Amino acid sequence: MTMFCYKCGKEAPLTDGLCAACYTSEHSLISLKQRYNVVACRTCDSFQMEEWMPFTNVEDIMERIMQRAAGKDKLVFVEDFSEPVHEVIQCMYAMTYCEEYWRIEARFFGYDDPFSDVPIRENHDFELHFKFTVCPSCSKKYGGYYEAILQIRRDGRYLTKEEKDHYLSEVTRLSDAELETFNMAFITQVLPKKEGIDFQMGSIKVAKKIARALQSLYGGTIAESHRLAGFDRQAGKERYRTTIVLRLSQFEEGLFVLYEGRLWKIAHAVGKLLLRNFAEERAVDFKKVEKDHASGALEIVGEPLMRDGMIASRDEAGAEMLTLDSYETIPLSPEIMAEGMSQGEPVRFFERNGIYYAVSP
Ligand SMILES: [Zn+2]
Ligand SMILES: [Zn+2]
Repeated sequence: MTMFCYKCGKEAPLTDGLCAACYTSEHSLISLKQRYNVVACRTCDSFQMEEWMPFTNVEDIMERIMQRAAGKDKLVFVEDFSEPVHEVIQCMYAMTYCEEYWRIEARFFGYDDPFSDVPIRENHDFELHFKFTVCPSCSKKYGGYYEAILQIRRDGRYLTKEEKDHYLSEVTRLSDAELETFNMAFITQVLPKKEGIDFQMGSIKVAKKIARALQSLYGGTIAESHRLAGFDRQAGKERYRTTIVLRLSQFEEGLFVLYEGRLWKIAHAVGKLLLRNFAEERAVDFKKVEKDHASGALEIVGEPLMRDGMIASRDEAGAEMLTLDSYETIPLSPEIMAEGMSQGEPVRFFERNGIYYAVSP
C-alpha cells in the first residue's frame, strides 16, 4: 500500500501520517521565550527562579532556564551533536554580551517523542535580561539576622589565638561550602571571646551541621540551649535563639595519657586520637575517647607528674630504667613496655602506687 504524507502529499515512510520533513516542521523539542528576565542579588551570587538559588556563572542560569523548558527530557550540553537518544535532548549554545543583556543562540537535537524515530534539529535565539535587587537572605544577613550562635570552646582552658584563627577559617570554609546550595548558611557576625570564638549564624540547621563536622575532626561534645529572645509580632509567638556549644576535646597532640594500663603520648588529634609509644600505636575515635574518659578508663597524666628517664637495659624478661632526676635504677614490668623500647632510649615516665609507666618522649 502506498502511503502519502497528509501535509505535502509526498510518498514516503510516515510518522503520525507525516513525512520526515513535515514531521520535523510540525513538532518541537523545546519551547523557549524570546526574552527572559532574571532577578539576581546584587550582593551574593543567587538568582530567583521560583525560589532563590545560588549560581556560579551566567551559564548556570542559562542552563537551568533551558532545562526547565525541556521538562522531563534530560538536556545535555555538548560541543558537537552525536547520535540522538530518546528522552535526551542535546544542546549547543553560544552567548554574547550585548551591553545590557545576554544574547543566546541555542541549537537542539533529539526526539520530541519516545516513540518517534525522526530526530529533530531546532534553533532558538533568546535574550537574558538581569534585574538586580537584594535577595531575602542577604537582606537578613546585612540586617543582622541570625538564628543561632555557634560557640567554640575547649575543655579545661581558653582557646589560643592560633586556635581561634584556625576555627575561624574552618567555620568560614564549612559555611562557604553550605552556601553553594543554601543561601541562609551565612555567618552574620564573628565575635571573638576571651575563652573562645562565637559565630552568629543565619541557620540553626547549618550551625548544627558545622558543629558536628568540627566534632568529627577535632572531638569534643556538643550542647544546645534555647533562650527566649523576644516576641515575634508577625508570627504571633515567642522567638527563641539557639546556642550551640562545641566544647573541644581536651585531648590534644603532645599530651600523655594512661590508657589500657599503658602510658601513651598523643601523636595526632584530628579525626581520631592517635596514641603512640615507641613502635606501638593505637587509634581511638573521639566518641570512644569521650566515653572512656568519662568512665575513667582513659586519663590525662599532667606534665608536672612526668619525669625523665633512660632505658638502661632490656631483655625478654623486662627492662631497667635509670631515672635522670634521682639516678635510681628501676625495673619495668614487661606489661608496660612498648615494642621498640630498647637500651639507651630516652623515656618519660611517671609512677603511681609503686608502678612505673614509661613512654617515648
Ligand atoms: Zn510531508
Ligand atoms: Zn543575596
